[in-house]
Amino acid sequence: MKTITILVPCYNEENSLDLFFERLHGVLANLGEYKTEVLLVNDGSKDNTLAKMQELHAKDPSVSYLSLSRNFGKENAMLAGLDYAEGDAVILMDVDLQDPPELIPEMIKEWENGYDDVYARRRSRMGETWFKKTSAHYYYRLLQKFADIDIPADVGDFRLLDRQAVNALCSLREKQRYTKGLFSWIGYNKKELLFDRNPRATGNSKMSFIKLFGLAVDGITSFSVAPLRLASVLGLLISSVAFVYLLFVVGKTLLFGDPVAGYPSMVSIILFMGGIQLIVLGIIGEYVGRIFYESKGRPDYLVSEYNGIKIVGARNIRYEYKDHDKPL
Ligand code: UDP
Ligand code: MG
Repeated sequence: MKTITILVPCYNEENSLDLFFERLHGVLANLGEYKTEVLLVNDGSKDNTLAKMQELHAKDPSVSYLSLSRNFGKENAMLAGLDYAEGDAVILMDVDLQDPPELIPEMIKEWENGYDDVYARRRSRMGETWFKKTSAHYYYRLLQKFADIDIPADVGDFRLLDRQAVNALCSLREKQRYTKGLFSWIGYNKKELLFDRNPRATGNSKMSFIKLFGLAVDGITSFSVAPLRLASVLGLLISSVAFVYLLFVVGKTLLFGDPVAGYPSMVSIILFMGGIQLIVLGIIGEYVGRIFYESKGRPDYLVSEYNGIKIVGARNIRYEYKDHDKPL
């Protein structure tokens, strides 16, 4: 019997969990030929999410939970879940019912057809602000232009991954994780399904503007050095213009002498150049910052508890090769 893990990262979601299970149970009831494991990851919630998870686990042993030692962010919470997932396939979804559980049977069908990564593309997004929709739209297009790999637009983390893809993702231990890009990076057979993204069932988005902005920068810097190249191009362009201007100034001085003037143009040039230099420094800084984080080699997350057991030692830090890794 094949096992399917449903992996759900949760941050301050005490009110979402019940609604989520209500919908999910209806779907899982019709998946008789599979063993299912629901793996809830508590990403350092400050409300009663952990207590709620413990209660759900006590009631139903097919519900597992993993509690991180603090809030590590959704990307790391997903990695933790992938490390601990037992399934032959893992389905990643949000707890707020923005990803409809009703799509699960269709995903499993495509997986049985031989696809390793069945991802869901949003046909529409409901209940999200105009700003979020437009910025997401342009960001994905920008990323596609820049990134070395093809990252599909309007695709989130909602997907089914075969064990092969899961282990591949677990082997990528980079610190500034941009999972959406990693899904593309690992390759394997991909299949797209369409769905309508619903408004959040309850509560507010846990992804603040600052978190999303950081994630957006991570997306570009982890898959592309295009901004660095842009800096060189900008430098080249400005020096060429400056050279032409130099010829003009020298010519003018030779022909007409040099009445001391040009304060406004000088100030404009100094300010303009200063601005450009700061921007370019900032771009370099983004990459240096990433080297800084990688070089420290800290783990991506720490686990405090797994199904009521305190986790110490190696499993806390490194993912473990499971039986699935045995040669075929
Ligand atoms: N989440 C998380 N850690 C965080 C932020 C969010 O595990 O630091 C979870 C959250 O509980 C939810 C999912 O990630 O299950 C998506 O978050 P949210 O719905 O707030 O983001 P949005 O859908 O607005 O992008
Ligand atoms: Mg959401």
